[in-house]
Amino acid sequence: MNFKDKKVLVTGGTKGIGKTVALAFASQGASVGVNYATDDQSASDLEKELQQMSSDYLLLKADVSSADEVETMIRQVLDQWERIDILVNNAGIIRDKMLLFLGEEDWDRVINTNLKGTYLCSRAVLKEMISQKSGRIINMASPSAITGRQAQTNYSASKGGIISFTKSLSKEVARIGITVNAICPGIIDTPMTQELKEATKKELLSMIPMGKFGKTDNVADGVLFLASEKAAYITGQVLAIDGGLT
Ligand code: NAD
Repeated sequence: MNFKDKKVLVTGGTKGIGKTVALAFASQGASVGVNYATDDQSASDLEKELQQMSSDYLLLKADVSSADEVETMIRQVLDQWERIDILVNNAGIIRDKMLLFLGEEDWDRVINTNLKGTYLCSRAVLKEMISQKSGRIINMASPSAITGRQAQTNYSASKGGIISFTKSLSKEVARIGITVNAICPGIIDTPMTQELKEATKKELLSMIPMGKFGKTDNVADGVLFLASEKAAYITGQVLAIDGGLT
């Protein structure tokens, strides 16, 4: 897949799945805007890798749950490249707690980062994509949205919202040449899943028919496919990359 001259923005792109996605686009010739929230060290580590690849890139520190910061970030991208071809709404967090113990702050933080962030970033790029009459938006959902999972009411609600958002937006913009799809990564080995307790990891592993966690490369392959010409007639879909989990 060749993404030469394509301008890509990956939110939450300095670690885990987002980092692999950003590097995969860069390796196929794309210019990559990599957003992150606070972790300057991981941004600087990624910058070294992008420089070694002689990539055209932007590092964009912004909280995706802030409308002002998102607007500033998109302005930075457009000032630099004058267009955005592909948006990957990947930034996401977990704050797992049983509902009885789930305070408003953990509810709001997860919904605002995962779901509101997807809304804000999509809305901010849409004007540009509409005037270009082309664009690809790829949103990161989760199996938790489909099967539910205890202690994840906030997270599964945010990801279920992302699936519904994907389907509705795809219908709004299909005739303009913009596709909107979601990916449901299963349990992927990233800093997010490394935080899980050993017992939880064991339980999750036992639920995966393929018997192993996924790799970030598995998810990046799906993202690049949905962003490519090969997926030109696919919109409003949810692609599970989960070893059979769902
Ligand atoms: P991660 O924790 O390794 O990385 C998350 C990234 O999001 C980081 O770069 C972080 O800086 C960024 N981020 C967090 N809050 C942000 C904010 N407010 N603004 C901007 N950036 C922010 O996570 P991951 O495991 O790579 O997951 C990536 C996406 O895939 C998430 O949306 C996650 O919900 C989803 N997902 C992951 C798995 C998994 O098994 N790892 C499974 C299903 C879905």
